[in-house]
Amino acid sequence: METQQLNNGLKMPSLGLGVWQSDNGEETINAIHWALEAGYRHIDTARIYKNEEAVGKALATASSVPRDRVWLTTKIWNDDIRQGRTTAALEESLGRLKTDYVDLLLLHWPVDGSTRAWQELERALSAGKVRSIGLSNFMADDLEEILQAGDVVPAVNQIEYHPYLVQSEAIAVCDEHDIVITAWSPLMQGKFLEEPTFAEIGEEYGKTAAQVVLRWCLQNDVIAIPKSVHKKRIVENGELFDFELSEEDMQRIDQLERGHRFGPDPHNFDF
Ligand code: NAD
Repeated sequence: METQQLNNGLKMPSLGLGVWQSDNGEETINAIHWALEAGYRHIDTARIYKNEEAVGKALATASSVPRDRVWLTTKIWNDDIRQGRTTAALEESLGRLKTDYVDLLLLHWPVDGSTRAWQELERALSAGKVRSIGLSNFMADDLEEILQAGDVVPAVNQIEYHPYLVQSEAIAVCDEHDIVITAWSPLMQGKFLEEPTFAEIGEEYGKTAAQVVLRWCLQNDVIAIPKSVHKKRIVENGELFDFELSEEDMQRIDQLERGHRFGPDPHNFDF
């Protein structure tokens, strides 16, 4: 499994399994077991996905891969940030995940109270409850606020990122501070199938459209966390390390950018 070097010295696996909209039972447990068998070593959940118990169970029952070989990310939900209960929310997540620590803890969205919440994350880091701390959906201006208020530079910013939405402004600030980008909805929430370019490029390499999109992320030094609960797709999405897209094909995909969001706009959301 390839990794990305973080600004705190840790190496984070470049591919993870996303579990948004997966259930809190067998569906998620099976998906995680299949992913681990296929070589994934990184799981992305959040309190708001309401499946942390299943994620914890899956990791505890994964016979071949011990917990300390898997990168586990979870996130503090907006209401907890607003209510100033980030530390309590982390304890609750650890309880549901049945683990003493997570590898990465993110503030899920930039809401009122984020600066104070960031300071709570810094304390959790000192206390060893989390190995890395970061943000999600923080655009350039929100990011600057955290950088000014905090002592620790975020290790990661998890943002919507795919060929239709590259978010160069947020990425430029992240690059400046050595903050690694993780792509959410890297497969455009399944809509990549409607864009013929990916399958066309895939034919050259004997790869599927999904593999082309995910490989493009990785070659841009962006971590990808595609979601699936189907074994065949989980395996397919994991087979990314035996080919490389040419510069020409990378550029062909770059040209598809159109500032199109499939998810909410971090500057204008109501949750
Ligand atoms: P995604 O872009 O990963 O797309 C997932 C969908 O693509 C699947 O439901 C399925 O319909 C389809 N798909 C997956 N593999 C396929 C394959 N090989 N062939 C054909 N179709 C395939 O969408 P996502 O779930 O929105 O994003 C991935 C993860 O990112 C989430 O599960 C979650 O962990 C994270 N996320 C984070 C935020 C955030 O605010 N931080 C927001 C959304 C998602």
